[in-house]
Amino acid sequence: MDTPTQYEIDFLPVGNGDTSGDAIAIRYGDGIEWKVMVYDGGTKESGKKLVEHIKRYYETDYVDFVVNSHPDQDHASGLSVVMENLNVGELWIHRPWAHAGEVLHHFKDERITENSLVQRFKDKVPYSWALEEIAVKKGIKICEPYQGSEIGEFTVLSPSKDWYLHTLIPEFTKTPEAKDITEESFVSKTLDPLHKDICCVQESWDIETLRDDVETSADNESSAVLYANIDSQGIFLCGDAGIRGLSHASEYTDIYGQDLPNCNFYQIPHHGGRHNVSPEVLNKIVGEIRPKETSPKKSAFVSVGKEASKHPKEMVVNAFIRRGAKVTPTKGSTICNHHNTPARSGWTTAKDIPFSDVVESWD
Ligand SMILES: [Zn+2]
Repeated sequence: MDTPTQYEIDFLPVGNGDTSGDAIAIRYGDGIEWKVMVYDGGTKESGKKLVEHIKRYYETDYVDFVVNSHPDQDHASGLSVVMENLNVGELWIHRPWAHAGEVLHHFKDERITENSLVQRFKDKVPYSWALEEIAVKKGIKICEPYQGSEIGEFTVLSPSKDWYLHTLIPEFTKTPEAKDITEESFVSKTLDPLHKDICCVQESWDIETLRDDVETSADNESSAVLYANIDSQGIFLCGDAGIRGLSHASEYTDIYGQDLPNCNFYQIPHHGGRHNVSPEVLNKIVGEIRPKETSPKKSAFVSVGKEASKHPKEMVVNAFIRRGAKVTPTKGSTICNHHNTPARSGWTTAKDIPFSDVVESWD
């Protein structure tokens, strides 16, 4: 394929009601040939939708790259359906079980052996382990998305292998579930309408209430953050990465000379949760706050359930709008961002979310 000049990025809906996840199909090409990438597959049901979507709109049953940002069910599970039902060139996935020997010294308990650690990793991330098993069965090449890896036109910005092995792995295995019970883990209580956020804080263009001191789980931070530049259009994908992963991504692009704030397309991390982004990190990735009333120059997509009452957070949407992005949620529909390709017949422009003067309070 010659230098690609066009692309389509499709965010498919995941889950019903208040649950969220990511199921993203991308193709890019030079006008003659295409490459297809799936970045996260959501649930089994959205995995089926991805298969149908790729056959129908990309007119192929071949996926060059299947990428799993991180092992959470709402991102990994649907990829097994994609891998079982389509032909796949490469699977890109973090394989903690393959590094048990290298990280064993982080585990003080002497009863832990390399073998028991392998088992512990497989038990900890059953959905990504299942992907490896399918890949082995089908003879699909398996690669790990560490900083600097190239996946077609995309470059992995975070995590670095060193940070993944020696910081994140010890964190997410020592505290297996401790940080999963956050407001953003979509536990069943979020289905209860009485638990909706009470909106009672004023924001304006100049008043931003996002915090700088937030954190998310090590699993989320391990998300493979990807960047591509296709026909001078920057594309940024980040799964559920938080401030640490996003900062690493930003530092790395500084080194290899790319300008993240010039991207045209952004995925909003973690379904628009407010524990993944801060004003500081957004300034580095999306850009500084622009003067009010300037028209948006870039797009930001966010995967949220059709009935999602808690996501995306208004303060996160506002933060992207202030920095020049138009924010579009999936909310039960497939949304498409495309460059140099014709609009699909029957598809309408998805509605973006307006700036909100009132946002969720922190308490
Ligand atoms: Zn998620």
